[in-house]
Amino acid sequence: NRKLVSTALAAAMVCSMGAASATTVSAEEQKTVGILMPTQSSERWINDGANMKKQLEEKGYKVELQYAEDDTAMQVSQLENYVGKGVDCLVIAAIDSGVLVNAEAQAKEAGIPIIAYDRLLMDTDAVSYYATFDNKGVGTVIGNYIKDTKDLDAAREAGESYTIEFFMGSPDDNNALFLYNGIMEVLQEYLDDGTLVCKSGRTSFEDTCILRWSQETAQANCENILTANYADEDLDIACSAFDGFAYGIKAALLGAGYTEENWPLITGQDAEVMATKNIIDGTQTMSIYKDTRLLAEKAVTMVDAVLKGEEPEINDTEQYDNGKMVVPTYMCTPVAVDQSNYKEILIDGGYYTEDQLK
Ligand code: BGC
Repeated sequence: NRKLVSTALAAAMVCSMGAASATTVSAEEQKTVGILMPTQSSERWINDGANMKKQLEEKGYKVELQYAEDDTAMQVSQLENYVGKGVDCLVIAAIDSGVLVNAEAQAKEAGIPIIAYDRLLMDTDAVSYYATFDNKGVGTVIGNYIKDTKDLDAAREAGESYTIEFFMGSPDDNNALFLYNGIMEVLQEYLDDGTLVCKSGRTSFEDTCILRWSQETAQANCENILTANYADEDLDIACSAFDGFAYGIKAALLGAGYTEENWPLITGQDAEVMATKNIIDGTQTMSIYKDTRLLAEKAVTMVDAVLKGEEPEINDTEQYDNGKMVVPTYMCTPVAVDQSNYKEILIDGGYYTEDQLK
C-alpha cells in the first residue's frame, strides 16, 4: 500500500529531522537562562517559574530557576551568582528592584541581557524588555467590578452608601501603585461624594499599602480596622489587591463574627486555586485571572529574540518609565473572574481542572 508506505516514510523523515535539529546544539553551545523569582509563598510565582522553565527547555535552552522567599539580600546574591557564572540571559521578577541596581549594572557590563518579568525593574538602564500584565488595567477591572456589582450610580441616585476598606500592594513593587491608581480612577468620585464611605479614613496608597504583599499584615490590618471602625456598622466592601490579602481578610471577618448574611464583597488578584475555591463557596467575590502560561510565553519570546539578535513583539513603549529609560513592554490583558464565569475561563480554558477546585 503506497499511501501507508509514504506516510511511514514521511513520519520517519520528520523524526530524523527532529533528532537532527535537537543535536545541532551541542552541550557547550547550549545557552543558559537564569530566572529569578520572588517567592514560593504564593502559587502564581511557582506557576510562572515552572511555565517559563518548561517553555525555554522546549526551545533548547538550559534553565536555572531560583526563588528568594521575599528576602531581598538573597535575591541580590542569586543575581550576582548568575552574573558570576556567566549565564546568557536573565529573567527577573524582583522583590524590591531598588536593591538589584548594582548587580544589574554588572550584568550589563558582562553583556548579559535582562528581561523584566511581571514587575518593572526600576532605576536601571540594563533591562532590554518587560513582559507583564496591564497593571493599571488590573486596578481598573477591580474598580469597575465594585462599581458595577454594587451599582454605585444607582446608590448615588438613591442617596445610599456602602462602607469600603482598601488593602493595597507592596510599596517596593511598581505594580502596586499602578493598580491603586487604576482602582482610584474609578472609585475616587464615589468616595468624594459619599457613596463610598471609608470609615478608617485610610484611602491613600501610603496608608493602605502592605509591605511584601503579606497575608499576615493584611489580616492584622483588617482586624484592627474592624475593631476600631466597624463595631456598629458592617463592612460592605474589602477592596483587596491580592488573593493572599483576601485570605487574611476572610480570617479577620470570621474572627469578627461575619456570616453569609453580612459577608462583604471581597476582591483579589491572581485567581489562585484557593481563591477560586473561595469564590465558589462565596467567601471571596472575585479575582483577577492572569494567565501565567501566556506571560511566560511572552517572556520566552523576548529571551529568544535578544539571544538571536531579533526584535520581539511589544505593544507598549510609553507606560513603563523606570526612571532611567522607558522599557519596551508586552502587556497582557487581565480578566475578572467570579462565580458567573470561572468555569468558562479557568476550567474550559485549561488553567485548572475541575478536580483541583474541589
Ligand atoms: C503581581 C501580582 C501578585 C503580587 C503579589 C505583583 O507584582 O503583579 O500578580 O499578586 O505581585 O505576589
